Amino acid sequence: HTPLHELDPAVAAAVDAELHRQQSTLEMIASENFAPVAVMEAQGSVLTNKYAEGYPGRRYYGGCEHVDVVEQIAIDRVKELFGAEHANVQPHSGAQANAAAMFALLKPGDTIMGLNLAHGGHLTHGMKINFSGRLYDVVAYHVGDDGRVDMAEVERLAKESKPKLIVAGWSAYPRQLDFAAFRRIADEVGAYLMVDMAHFAGLVAAGLHPNPVPHAHVVTTTTHKTLGGPRGGVILSTAELAKKINSAVFPGQQGGPLEHVIAAKAVAFKVAASEDFKERQRRTLDGARILAERLVKDDVRAVGVDVLSGGTDVHLVLVDLRHSELDGQQAEDRLHEVGITVNRNAVPNDPRPPMVTSGLRIGTPALATRGFGAEDFAEVADVIAEALKPSYDVQALKARVKALADRHPLYPGLNK
Ligand code: PLP
Repeated sequence: HTPLHELDPAVAAAVDAELHRQQSTLEMIASENFAPVAVMEAQGSVLTNKYAEGYPGRRYYGGCEHVDVVEQIAIDRVKELFGAEHANVQPHSGAQANAAAMFALLKPGDTIMGLNLAHGGHLTHGMKINFSGRLYDVVAYHVGDDGRVDMAEVERLAKESKPKLIVAGWSAYPRQLDFAAFRRIADEVGAYLMVDMAHFAGLVAAGLHPNPVPHAHVVTTTTHKTLGGPRGGVILSTAELAKKINSAVFPGQQGGPLEHVIAAKAVAFKVAASEDFKERQRRTLDGARILAERLVKDDVRAVGVDVLSGGTDVHLVLVDLRHSELDGQQAEDRLHEVGITVNRNAVPNDPRPPMVTSGLRIGTPALATRGFGAEDFAEVADVIAEALKPSYDVQALKARVKALADRHPLYPGLNK
């Protein structure tokens, strides 16, 4: 019964410090969000103690009557949220969801297509030293000069390489994909279409982004990005692929499911079906648009700052620093110094090395969850614009960041 602060003061102190960091800075990493307290409560529950290999009603352990209820609720809610025929809520993460989906549909040595990492794809879409690049033969597609996925190239490469699976999805891309066009190409060459909606799932749930489910054989997602739940993954599929997907997750890839995380996913899916969630996703999109509009103005263009593809349709903006004195690392550090957390990111045809890069990925989901509206986002955008200029006033910008953080308190009940 010993509380964490007594049992392990070292870990407790780091957790407290992290709470303070989240409260006092502005989180703009595009893949992050703040989970509701109820989600964290479910995740911190006694369900962490339970083994439940198998699926609801078909377990390899006794005593699963309550976790069965929880997992079935999660499955039913996520199917309803996205209109899917089948859902597996057990993947421990987005990467494991992708590994399992590929394991279900492919054999080692099969050809897959995915968006090149430096053009916005994810590691699991075929990066050389990721499992996806090691197990499968990868043909990568790219974005064109306009910063948008070159569908003519996708079609040409698909016809040439006859992939078994085409992955549509991204980690750093500011536009919407044409799922119907991807499906047409997949059908033409006899490939499965897998959409990885990890980043934009929250927008889909809110009806503010096209839903890939009607177009794809399989859709994977994380639950912790725009969706705003606990860290984890989900696989959605057609009923026809249900058995293959389930056996690829367990026993194919994983052992016991994390039922405490599945409980937290269930809570997050309930939240994601609400009007409040829709309104939050609307503010997320507005914020990203406001940021993009600010970062193409003359004063920042004059110092070599630009925005990839000229704007955004989603929850993030990709800042192009190829013509700026500041590289990605310096820009990330500069924003960190004033209290804004972002990540540097390679841009297509980046002349700087991958650890430095010439880009920034800036997202609005976490701030929207915190309650930021258009006026707040305009202020954040202006702080970012000023911070990227050679003559920036650290103290003044820090004060503006603090005022914004104070205006929208985060987890006020969690301070000890
Ligand atoms: N897929 C996409 C598109 C992602 O952006 C990410 C995470 O960044 C993942 C999968 C992997 O998710 P996780 O970090 O939970 O393994």
